[in-house]
Amino acid sequence: MNPFSLEGRRALVTGANTGIGQAIALSLAGQGARVTCAGRRDCDETLGLIRDAGGEAEGLILDFADPMAAADIFAGAGYSILVNNAGIIRRDDSLDFTEADWDAVMDVNLKALFFTAQAFARACLADGQTPAAIVNIASLLSFQGGIRVPSYTASKHGVAGLTKILANEWAAKGINVNAIAPGYIATNNTQALRDDPERSKAILDRIPAGRWGDPQDIGGTAAFLASPAARYIHGAVLNVDGGWLAR
Ligand code: NAP
Repeated sequence: MNPFSLEGRRALVTGANTGIGQAIALSLAGQGARVTCAGRRDCDETLGLIRDAGGEAEGLILDFADPMAAADIFAGAGYSILVNNAGIIRRDDSLDFTEADWDAVMDVNLKALFFTAQAFARACLADGQTPAAIVNIASLLSFQGGIRVPSYTASKHGVAGLTKILANEWAAKGINVNAIAPGYIATNNTQALRDDPERSKAILDRIPAGRWGDPQDIGGTAAFLASPAARYIHGAVLNVDGGWLAR
């Protein structure tokens, strides 16, 4: 049996319409999982890419404007892989940062991630869907402070912490919980940085790999962490950053 295979597994990826989530959905499907591509709007582009490659997928509207939105979607549905990818960022000086920008980011990046993981784990255990895997998308700002993104940094430090506590509680129950900390990946999330020539150059100059990351760089890592090959990995936050944190 190929330890990297996801044949026979059902997976759900949040924020799968674009960027890193789209690449993760494609990678999971490429390893044989049937993938639910969840988004606050349709994931038709991702579904088309998966089906064109011969994979199996369906779409689901899931908007974390309500952080409890996923509470009822897992029971009885046979999922054994969850990728908590949906996330937002708001940029402003900490002196000016608003409560609205604090709450919006914490709700999607942290509260929704926890309660989606809780609903998934409850269903896995009630339905006997183990071994199972949760992959959370963290950030370099799970380790570093960043600039002008206080709620994002707080939320991503929180994602690293939740990854560890959930691994502690669920490892022995057959659920692997891990996270990926992507470096600077070329997606909507980093458009503002790439549009600023000074920031863009400063970032590129520090990346040992000498390039921005591609969403596919994260997709393969997520497929690995969801697979039997990663069955003894619990509570890890894996940097996929072109060497940024090694610098
Ligand atoms: P992105 O293209 O902006 O994707 C973010 C995804 O989250 C989109 O699918 C977005 O949907 C979805 N989302 C936002 N608000 C939502 C809500 N209320 N309900 C449901 N889904 C929602 O950026 P990305 O770079 O691919 O980001 C994916 C993840 O990687 C995020 O958690 C981000 O923090 C993390 N990350 C990215 C980088 C990077 O360099 N790009 C680095 C570290 C970590 P819409 O398309 O409708 O907005």
